[in-house]
Amino acid sequence: MSAVEYRAILKYRLMVPLFPVDDPCPVCRKSCLDSFGEHAIHCKELPGFKYRHDFVRDVLYDVLKRAGISAKKEAPVNFLTDPLEGRSTLRPADILVFGWEGGKHACVDLTGVSPLVGLRDHGFVAGQAITKAEAAKVAKHEKACIENQHVFVPFAFDTFGALAPDAVRLLKRVQQVVSSNTAHVLLFNLSVQLLSIFNFKIV
Ligand SMILES: [Zn+2]
Repeated sequence: MSAVEYRAILKYRLMVPLFPVDDPCPVCRKSCLDSFGEHAIHCKELPGFKYRHDFVRDVLYDVLKRAGISAKKEAPVNFLTDPLEGRSTLRPADILVFGWEGGKHACVDLTGVSPLVGLRDHGFVAGQAITKAEAAKVAKHEKACIENQHVFVPFAFDTFGALAPDAVRLLKRVQQVVSSNTAHVLLFNLSVQLLSIFNFKIV
């Protein structure tokens, strides 16, 4: 990591303004490039935005696989839609976990947010952004999942490394599965180390 990168990350984590004034984003030209760097982390037109979501999805899938839990990435289901698209566009589940709860398959939907969301209006409250993101995902998809005999599990994380309650519950349950199968313990620990890249804590 270069000195410039280190300084930028440290300032972001300590909520020290990165830019002297708010400016329009030079990439998407839609949003304000706020002084704390929140939009810089979340600009949807930067390749890193999708990369982070997919990276966490891939690591989570790897954790499930190493724990011996049957799952599929980007699994097509015929009921998940995206209301934001203005029409009934079917989309796959980020991860489909087979027979997860009461014999029902679980649609795990990942969402990454900045903990600085709403900083300007409400001030900083730890965990607020992920809790909101989790609730928004539940409101969007849970009903459709239940009606189609599936379980919905939101997996919300933020760029400071915090996980929302449902994500923690999912990982704790995976941990229990692993504990009951000692043959997988070493592999699981390896995967947890991978998750720690994002400072995620599940204990
Ligand atoms: Zn932008």
